[in-house]
Amino acid sequence: MEITINDPEIIDALKNAVEYEEKYAPYKCRQCNADKPEDADVVEWKCSCGYENRFLGWEWSNVTNNSSIISKLLRINLIEVVYRSNRYTCYALTNDKLVRKLISLKRRRILYLQIQ
Ligand SMILES: [Zn+2]
Repeated sequence: MEITINDPEIIDALKNAVEYEEKYAPYKCRQCNADKPEDADVVEWKCSCGYENRFLGWEWSNVTNNSSIISKLLRINLIEVVYRSNRYTCYALTNDKLVRKLISLKRRRILYLQIQ
């Protein structure tokens, strides 16, 4: 599936999600400060020191004023639901590297094949 993303609201939401995750997601172990292994999922990874690092994600209002942006991002698998309760639904980027690349491109056309 080829997707072209030019909607500035989508790009803004993705930028905000990257910023939020840079600030709050465990790219470093919360116990020993070791870097997250490249292939480990930031949502849940076990460090070699034994500590289980977890990221509960962000709520839609942390990244956008427009909740319909979230359903678009879910549909193209750029984000996923990582936590859901009666009161909260929390999301995380499925591939932060891809999203970083995407928001830095001038022509935002990407090939993304991870369809669930
Ligand atoms: Zn550790």
